[in-house]
This record gives sequence, C-alpha cells and structure tokens, in this order.
Amino acid sequence: MNEAENPAATATSPRSMPSVFISHGAPTLAVEDGPAHRFLCGYGKRLGRPAAVLLVSAHFEAPVATVCAGEHPATIHDFSGFPQSLYDIEYPAPGDPPLAGRVAAMLSAAGIAARESTGRGFDHGAWVPLRLMYPSADVPLVQLSLDPAQGTDYHFRLGRLLRPLREDGVMIVGSGGAVHNLGQLDWGSPAGEPPGWARDFNDWLLDAVENGRTDDVLAYRQRAPRAVRNHPTEEHFLPLIFALGAAGDDERGVRVHASWTFGALSMDNYQFGGPLPQT
Ligand code: ZN
Repeated sequence: MNEAENPAATATSPRSMPSVFISHGAPTLAVEDGPAHRFLCGYGKRLGRPAAVLLVSAHFEAPVATVCAGEHPATIHDFSGFPQSLYDIEYPAPGDPPLAGRVAAMLSAAGIAARESTGRGFDHGAWVPLRLMYPSADVPLVQLSLDPAQGTDYHFRLGRLLRPLREDGVMIVGSGGAVHNLGQLDWGSPAGEPPGWARDFNDWLLDAVENGRTDDVLAYRQRAPRAVRNHPTEEHFLPLIFALGAAGDDERGVRVHASWTFGALSMDNYQFGGPLPQT
C-alpha cells in the first residue's frame, strides 16, 4: 500500500527523505535565470516537503562541529560586490532547536565534539538554493558546520552518523560545488563552455559517484584528474562528501542536474535515495 492509498500512515510516520548535494554556484543563482536556477525551482516539488532540512554549507566552517540552534536565524549576506537586489533578500525559514539538539547529541555520542549556536544565521550556501526549492520558507532549516582541516573521512563520517535522521523526514543537504575554482572563472560568460581540466574532473566525479566508487571519491585529491586545480581548497567539495556519507549502503548516487556557468563552475547536483526527477 502506498501513501496515496493510506493517507493515515503519512500523518503518523514521516516519509524517508533523500540526501542531496547541490552546487550553489554564485549568489546570483538566487535571481538570475539559467538551467540550474530552473532545475532548483522545480526540485523541491519533486522531492516533496521534508519535516526539516539539515544542511552543510561550504560557507560555514568551524573548528568544532557547530549546529545552528536558533529559532529564527537571520539571513546572512556573506558576499560582496553583487547587485543590491541580492542583499535585500530575506529567507525567513524557521530554525529547529530540537533537531539541532538531536544532531549535537548524535555527534557527541559518537565522540565528536559538538556545540550549539543560537546566534548564527543562514549563509548564502543555504538560503540561495533552498529559497528556490522551498520559496514559502516554511521548512525548518538547521545548518551544521564543516572543517576543511579534517578532510574527507571526517565529513563522510558526519553524514554516516546523521543518516538515520532521513527516516524521520529530515532531508540531508550538502551545498557546495562539484567544480569550484573562483580564480579560473569567466565572470563575463554565464553560459560559457567549460575548459577541459574542469570537464575531465566533473566526468570523473560523475563516474565515481554513480558507480559507487566511494573510496575513489574520498581519495579524490590523489585519484581525480587535476583535483587541486578544480578545488584549490576543499570547502566546496566536502558538502558532497557529507551527502555521500548520508547515503544508504545500497543507494547509488544519481546526477539529477548537470550544467555549467561562468565557464568552469560546475552546477551539478547529486541525489542519494528518494524520488528521482523525470528526465
Ligand atoms: Zn559557495
């Protein structure tokens, strides 16, 4: 019996939600049309409404795992040099202090030091994509920090530890970039073609994720072509590792969106579990 045949079941037992990785691109993704913008505008409807979102953003680093526990986090405009219209955007999604407390407790129980912060707001790695997916801003959102000094194994473990939350209707989201080297972008060319070094890395990643070569993804810095050129620093790749860690053992990742912007900025999105978009 599916949910449509038994609506009472959905009222008492939340639907399992997927783990997803989103390439959030430049902040202008929030307001400028393009393939990734259009994809995200329809993606929330396809996935359905989660009970809450737990998100790791490339733009929230802390040396101790920090969970945002405010009831009404502010919208942080953590970028400079962009049009005023971006600074006027507010994303008033509520926080979820009980979920934040649960996340911190799950990490602490596994021996990972964790703290809660009630003052930290939503950075653009969170609100830019979620505002497109859930424009009503009524899905509670909790952010968890990352720590590039800890590398891939740590972030994979974070995802693995928090994976059970998906069964309670919490969508796990990693928000970063599949290819991210800001010094190599062609800012004047939103629809520009990617260079070979970026395409090669992106293709390698697709093959590794979709074929379940998790060990290769975790060792991407040694095994992927031109890894350091594609990710001079790791903070935009680690959210993918987090989302991968939250995947089930039998859940292969699926690339649900692929596009490029500004030449070398990959906007690819991956999904682990849950309903897949029609292609
Ligand atoms: Zn970013």
